[in-house]
Amino acid sequence: MRGVVFDGVGAVRVADLPDPDLEAPTDAIVRVTRSAICGSDLHLLHGKAPMEPGEPLGHEAVGVIEAIGEGVETRRVGDRVAVAFNVACGHCWFCGIGQSSLCDDDRIFGYGIFGGALPGAQAERLRVPDANLNLLEIPEGVGDEAAVFVGDVLTTGFYGASLTGAGPGDVVAVLGCGPVGFCTIEGLRTQGGPTIYALDRDPSRLALAETAGAIPVHIDERNPVTALAEATHGRGADVVIDAVGHPTAFEGAIDTIRRGGTVVVLGVYSSETTELQLGAYWSRALTLRFAGLTPVVSWWGRAMDGLERGVVDPTPLISHRLPLEAAAEGYALFDRREATKVVLEP
Ligand SMILES: [Zn+2]
Ligand SMILES: [Zn+2]
Repeated sequence: MRGVVFDGVGAVRVADLPDPDLEAPTDAIVRVTRSAICGSDLHLLHGKAPMEPGEPLGHEAVGVIEAIGEGVETRRVGDRVAVAFNVACGHCWFCGIGQSSLCDDDRIFGYGIFGGALPGAQAERLRVPDANLNLLEIPEGVGDEAAVFVGDVLTTGFYGASLTGAGPGDVVAVLGCGPVGFCTIEGLRTQGGPTIYALDRDPSRLALAETAGAIPVHIDERNPVTALAEATHGRGADVVIDAVGHPTAFEGAIDTIRRGGTVVVLGVYSSETTELQLGAYWSRALTLRFAGLTPVVSWWGRAMDGLERGVVDPTPLISHRLPLEAAAEGYALFDRREATKVVLEP
């Protein structure tokens, strides 16, 4: 089969790979109908995690089940399914309390040794371990392009929104309007309608956030701290979400939050550092919540339900639809920030 592989820092290519086989009774083989390129794939492209040339890439996919092991009871051959980007075991202590991303055996598709050396989802076929848990059936009325967001970004948005505890009457600032920021705005909207300010410097991303129901603030044209103060009688936002994953966004969140407010860190961090003045956090009684990886299998039912009921729609994020064979072009467009979301068709 064909699949996308890492080809050294800054490069990917589409290569011939062995067809996957069932390796355990709880495995399933999925014929991928759509996969997507994620911001975290760019971390791999840039060499931020150990990756050898030839290792498969991709963790966002939907498809049709082609084969199941004898231990798979909840899914059948022929089911249309979304794939969780991080697979969980389902029976450890953390899985038991709904924290599947903290699973003792948490692994990520297409993430090299860091992800447990699983195969990549940007391919024609994918072996999914523990398929009873890590595949979700797609309802008839939900298309592949919408469902491909459920295994990662849309569910991350719902999860991030839930961590804020924001509801009617609250003022929320979302820093960064990429796919995760957009989906967080969609998730927040389902929580009873807090007022949402979307902060970014990319006009097209701000326009998308506005269509999702947020008030756009171009951070080079308007001081975001002032904008949020004006919206809250000078207090600052009740909740700020760092949907970027860069120290300047984190520091900006601290500047924008009111006393007693909650900062949710949803953007991905690895080795970055920042200086904390502990007294500033203590005296302002801030709540700081790091999201970590999304516990997809604990949360994705809500995201899929939102799609089925038509209350959320992530598909406006898709800027490019390319054949799998053009994956390198898709990565390059995304890396140059000329694409918001790239969907690949095998
Ligand atoms: Zn992703
Ligand atoms: Zn587990």
